[in-house]
Amino acid sequence: MNLLDFNKYYPDEASCKSAFKSQRLSEGVVCKKCNHTSHYWKKKKEQWECKSCSYRTTLKSGTVMENSKLPYQYWFVAMHLLTSTKKSFSAKEIQRQLGHNRYQPIWEMLHKIRSVMGLRDDKYILRNETELDDGFFETVSINRNKKEALKRGRGSQRQTTVLVSTESETIKDESISKKHSKKKRLGFIKMKVITSLKIEIVTPVIKSMVEKGSVIVSDGSTSFNGIKDDYLHSGKVIPKKEISKVLPWVHTVISNAKRMLLDIHHRVDDDFSQNYLNEYVYKLNRRNFKCCFERLLITSVSYRWNSLG
Ligand SMILES: [Zn+2]
Repeated sequence: MNLLDFNKYYPDEASCKSAFKSQRLSEGVVCKKCNHTSHYWKKKKEQWECKSCSYRTTLKSGTVMENSKLPYQYWFVAMHLLTSTKKSFSAKEIQRQLGHNRYQPIWEMLHKIRSVMGLRDDKYILRNETELDDGFFETVSINRNKKEALKRGRGSQRQTTVLVSTESETIKDESISKKHSKKKRLGFIKMKVITSLKIEIVTPVIKSMVEKGSVIVSDGSTSFNGIKDDYLHSGKVIPKKEISKVLPWVHTVISNAKRMLLDIHHRVDDDFSQNYLNEYVYKLNRRNFKCCFERLLITSVSYRWNSLG
């Protein structure tokens, strides 16, 4: 959806709210108290009332917007910007575009959207031929009072370790293969922040990312020594000039992600680095999809925010 279409469908707060309500209705409203699915709509209060136990459900309750005082239109604009463009946006830039006077709620909104993107992608699992590597991202550790969660402050430099896997299918058709510098085709990708490269940390993360029985190609890192029983794993030291042939995608994905974080977000707090990567991965996985905004809206409405922690 381009900017003109977006403005045509969602020109104001009323149209955004109405689209949000329609989406909730098509997902089905479920009573939090008794799980009943039949409700009256209380027009004045703008709430649903359970036909069985009279419990009231607000429009935003149970969605990504729960507890947010920001207008629906803000969420719609933010979701549009995050899905319609290849690059990311800083919270400062979105704040400027929305003309909002406070930074914090905008920053929180964007992180909630990125969390939802990550939860959506957790439903995918990579399969068949895959590449695997670890990457180190420059982040900062923000000294934050735990009671004042989500507030920003001064931080110290550190490196965040990220496990990266990409589907990477060998292009068998020589006529197609000749046209591409890379001899493998990129499929879906996954990036997960990990606390260390110890085998016992890395192995379960790989198992959550890649389907059992798949091919995994990596370098000779000993961190990947725990997967040989479950995968067809080829992991050996790769000479420098061979890397682009053996692992053509995983390094490209890592260096593009690093550039995005550095160019747009500058100083990423390590507590939130997974969220920024969620956005990057979500967009890359949907590079050939249409209707990304609508897909994200469905996801935002149907995930119960309370269960996200
Ligand atoms: Zn009920």
